[in-house]
Amino acid sequence: PAAVIIDVMLPEGPLAGLELMRQAHFHENAAVPHVVISSRNDWQARLAAVRSGAAAYLVKPVDIAALDEHLQRCTNPDLKAPYRVLVVDDDAPLAGYYAETLTAAGMDAKAITEPALLLDAMAQLQQEIVLMDLHMPGCSGIEAMRVLRQDPQFTSLPVLFVSSETSVVQQQSAMQCGAEDFLQKPISDANLIMAVTVRAERFRSLTTLIRQDSLTGLLNHVSFKLRLEVEVDRCRRSHETMSLAMIDIDHFKKVNDTYGHPQGDRVIKGLAQLLQKRLRKSDIIGRYGGEEFVVAMPNTPPPLATMILNELLERFGSLLFETTQGEFACTFSGGVAAIPPLESTASLTRAADIALYNAKHSGRNRIETYVKAD
Ligand code: GH3
Ligand code: MG
Ligand code: MG
Repeated sequence: PAAVIIDVMLPEGPLAGLELMRQAHFHENAAVPHVVISSRNDWQARLAAVRSGAAAYLVKPVDIAALDEHLQRCTNPDLKAPYRVLVVDDDAPLAGYYAETLTAAGMDAKAITEPALLLDAMAQLQQEIVLMDLHMPGCSGIEAMRVLRQDPQFTSLPVLFVSSETSVVQQQSAMQCGAEDFLQKPISDANLIMAVTVRAERFRSLTTLIRQDSLTGLLNHVSFKLRLEVEVDRCRRSHETMSLAMIDIDHFKKVNDTYGHPQGDRVIKGLAQLLQKRLRKSDIIGRYGGEEFVVAMPNTPPPLATMILNELLERFGSLLFETTQGEFACTFSGGVAAIPPLESTASLTRAADIALYNAKHSGRNRIETYVKAD
């Protein structure tokens, strides 16, 4: 299995479930991420869960959406991809050695010996952590980090200093300038790997959280737009077709007014899950605002995009939301535009919006494609 959901208390004993998982961890092939669910909410049970290597601990009655989220997270291949590390050290053999050590530990590590190459290297590989030497000719490590920090996209990037510098004052000044930590040279391979892994892991899970919309787990408005820019550029260069769909739930205000805001939230989450489960891995899905969603579909001409959306529309329309005031269903409207003929992110978005407007005005519960007005 990709993951295990396990109870704490089994007939074999009050902590038997966790004991089972602890044993599984000793067998390499059986080391599966696990989520613990239990009616126990005491320290002993939680501690035992940590010791068994649990990814999460949920108290019964289990919130299914939270469980789903934890399972998604611990099975997410994006979170398991090799960590991208940049080593900056003017000592070429040492820089190479660090990079090799980290590569051997399964990371994607690259070394540069010239701080002037820092920004280019970062732009190319989008590293998640920088291992920086403190003393380099021409530019100190602290200065190099400050250059990096001037770019808002690197504000929170962990920069880990490695140096033989023992002066506390020097170390403090690096920390004050936003260094993540200070490692003393010489450093053992094991300590280096551990220091980098822990920070890269935390950086990646935090960035994932920041990029997500908190209600649905989809990309939020800002990060969707950034991804779309990249995708539009790529498609234009490789002369690929890409469709963009804007989706807006119909008469959603009425759902909120009739059944209350929490029921409205369930509908939003329901549509988000449907999009995630039914669309392809290569499709980029975002929550654009309240009850509005966007989907970028690379390699998809508008007729195919429309067909896919119509299937989604049918499925969504057949979802019944149960409430104490009875059950109800919803529909959505969608607008599709594509490159080519459109060329920029802005014109693509505008065109999809116009198509959505047309879908709303020709009766909702339908998908319209953008047609250029002459
Ligand atoms: P139309 O078919 O024309 O799209 O009508 P509509 O009622 O869906 O459109 P309108 O844009 O007037 O209303 C959207 C409503 O969505 C208004 C707002 O209160 C609600 N909304 C926005 N964000 C959220 C949210 O996160 N949760 C819930 N429950 N409601 C939200
Ligand atoms: Mg709406
Ligand atoms: Mg709306």
